[in-house]
Amino acid sequence: MNQLILIKYGELTTKKDNRNFFINTLEKNIRRVLDDNVTIRKDRVRMYIECGDAEKTALKLQKIFGIYSIVICHKVNNNTEEILGKALEIMDKSKKTFKVVTNRADKSFPIPSMEFSSKIGGLILKNSNFKVDVHNPDITLTIEIRNNGTFIYTDEIKGAGGYPVGIQGTGLLMLSGGIDSPVAGYLTLKRGVNVECIYFDSPPHTSLEAKNKVLKLASILNEYSGHIKVHVIPFTEIQEEIFKKCPDTYMITIMRRMMYRIAEKYAEKIGAKIIVNGESIGQVASQTLSSIECINSVTNKPIIRPVACLDKLEIINLAEKIGTYDTSILPFEDCCTIFVPKHPVINPKLALCEDYEMALNYEKLIDKCLQNVEVITSFTEPQFEELL
Ligand code: ATP
Ligand code: MG
Repeated sequence: MNQLILIKYGELTTKKDNRNFFINTLEKNIRRVLDDNVTIRKDRVRMYIECGDAEKTALKLQKIFGIYSIVICHKVNNNTEEILGKALEIMDKSKKTFKVVTNRADKSFPIPSMEFSSKIGGLILKNSNFKVDVHNPDITLTIEIRNNGTFIYTDEIKGAGGYPVGIQGTGLLMLSGGIDSPVAGYLTLKRGVNVECIYFDSPPHTSLEAKNKVLKLASILNEYSGHIKVHVIPFTEIQEEIFKKCPDTYMITIMRRMMYRIAEKYAEKIGAKIIVNGESIGQVASQTLSSIECINSVTNKPIIRPVACLDKLEIINLAEKIGTYDTSILPFEDCCTIFVPKHPVINPKLALCEDYEMALNYEKLIDKCLQNVEVITSFTEPQFEELL
């Protein structure tokens, strides 16, 4: 027999005007990860999924934003005998205490919610060894009486929360191989933003493994999105120019200003409204407030820094939760780490940056980069799998 899953929407229920758009986007995102042979029905407060294996389906649904909770439930007709029978069948006999919570959305059902909870509670007491405990029950039996039937369940699995991916516009994530930027990407996806990634690649100073590591991280983010793309920017020439012509202390600051300039142009090209990155206040010299101010001044594009105010440990906890940590800590050099000076400036002066940049023919170099972007949309190649 087919099993039934009931989905409770996340924050989207508060956005009344856009509700249909939210729900339809959520349905699309759900269909993308589930087999074709599921049946999905939806109304303004719930979505119902009939599927072959509810446990397996629930696991996949846990990665989809816009879902508050996932309930494996049982449907019966709106009558007391059937409800009682199903309740006794699904209550875990290894547990001792219970309480009943009824939600009577179908007002044509003659018994009010509280009264019905007591009635079913009494019948369960009579027909089983369970005891009632309204404060700290082992089992909470929930009964939702709706126009289309009664839904009964005892367990509710927490969903990923947030908004369905795609209800906001596109954001361009600066994705490095580190710990922070994949977490920043995850948090941005969670707000319903369709994330595309930009990666600054500096071969031969950075290896193919470093690039594959970024692609592997993108593939993990893709489990929460389904629409991830990685735009690989050939960054070697610009980096070498900076290395040759700018003082050591300002190399990173200027390199990051170049990254922002490129990200801004590329964001315009792909229609991304924001740039996202994994900067965290004070984490390194280029992320002091003075550095952020100086680096940020090259662009008017909004820069979102989802992990700006998190401690490294908090970011690591999130990275572990979303499954990117083990890949992020693989020891491949990133373009930021290969040219690291001994004493990077922590209070960069804008006028000095501009002076040093005059020595670089950067507009031309940036245009050249942008003409040679490699776009990657498929993450199934074996080399990413072999990394771990
Ligand atoms: P992460 O911050 O992701 O752990 P990291 O610590 O190596 O990596 P930082 O030097 O802290 O990176 O850089 C700050 C942010 O700049 C990164 O989070 C990322 O958003 C962006 N960034 C750095 N290097 C690159 C790169 N090669 N390509 C794309 N974005 C990058
Ligand atoms: Mg970092």
